[in-house]
Amino acid sequence: MIIEIEKESTDTVRQVGDLVRSMHCRPDILHGDLFTVIAVEGDATRIDMDYVLTFPGVVRAWRISSPYKTIARRVIGDNNQKVERKRIAIAVRGKDGLDRVFRDSRPVFIAGPCAVESYDQTARIADGLAVIADRLGCRDRMMLRGGAFKPRTRAWDFRGLGWEAMDILDRVRDNTGFPYCTEVMAVSQAEEVARRADMIQIGTRNYQNFDLLEAVGQTRRPVLYKRGVSAELEEWLSAAEYIALQGNKNILLCERGVKSTVAGDYNRSHIDLDVIPAIHSRTILPVIIDPSHSSGRSDLVPYQFCAASVYGANGMLVEVIADDTDRKTIQCDARQAVRLSVFEKMVRFQIGIESSPIRFEE
Ligand code: PEP
Ligand code: MN
Repeated sequence: MIIEIEKESTDTVRQVGDLVRSMHCRPDILHGDLFTVIAVEGDATRIDMDYVLTFPGVVRAWRISSPYKTIARRVIGDNNQKVERKRIAIAVRGKDGLDRVFRDSRPVFIAGPCAVESYDQTARIADGLAVIADRLGCRDRMMLRGGAFKPRTRAWDFRGLGWEAMDILDRVRDNTGFPYCTEVMAVSQAEEVARRADMIQIGTRNYQNFDLLEAVGQTRRPVLYKRGVSAELEEWLSAAEYIALQGNKNILLCERGVKSTVAGDYNRSHIDLDVIPAIHSRTILPVIIDPSHSSGRSDLVPYQFCAASVYGANGMLVEVIADDTDRKTIQCDARQAVRLSVFEKMVRFQIGIESSPIRFEE
């Protein structure tokens, strides 16, 4: 922690120094022309920064140790040495016996309807995905998604079939072998959803529902954890720590667009692709991109998907519909679903560029 104090506030410098020592840390006091700076050495997590900021003359205080230690890429080891941790790979096994592994440079595709609306609709999509996976030889990179419990902006909208949808997803998994991911909305559902689903999703709206984060952390299921629409990276990673601290580090971060100055007339939100390399350099977790919810438009989804791929995302989550489905009949996120034939081209693009990867690093 670094604390910057007005040069004249000598009483504060002394009192803050005493406070730091009382917390078993060492205050390293540096006298500048305008400010006195106290650099705290030792474990500063016990020092309440808000309290420090109440002292007269304190201009700023900030932490330099990571607030998300459990998932951070670089940490301080036992003998005060910097340690660079290995990135984790999250493996999700299907009933077909294949592991879908989220790790560097071989993205996994999570595709399916926004909401499970019927058995036929979900089964047709999953069968279509199976055809694509077999044609392109990427069964071990394909997973199914589908919402059973839907968070909706408007209370009158379709909110999912609930447990009935879970029964449908279970059946479709049995028939296709694909593992599935579905969202959990309440602490009371967490255990049961985790018992049945292969991956559980925490949606954007629940990104800071700390009780829910801890509940999924207590299960050992991989968690697809979406960014809040106005979450800064540090806030998002700090919240992810709630899951990790329960002992579940199988966290798949998912960027799905953030609020910015876009008014919504040409897309739904603003995709932050630069967050991909930032997550890779700061954490041990894999990160995927959801071009469906970020763009909100089926004509933009393929382009965001391709961009995410060259950025090195570890996977993509895409809402898809069958080729002959009438969009008007879909109850949830109809505008952004890509047709299976378009999705196939997207996957083809990804597989194609893998044979001649380009690296722009110096
Ligand atoms: C979804 O994945 O269908 C969903 C509701 O996503 P988000 O939480 O990103 O809005
Ligand atoms: Mn959706």
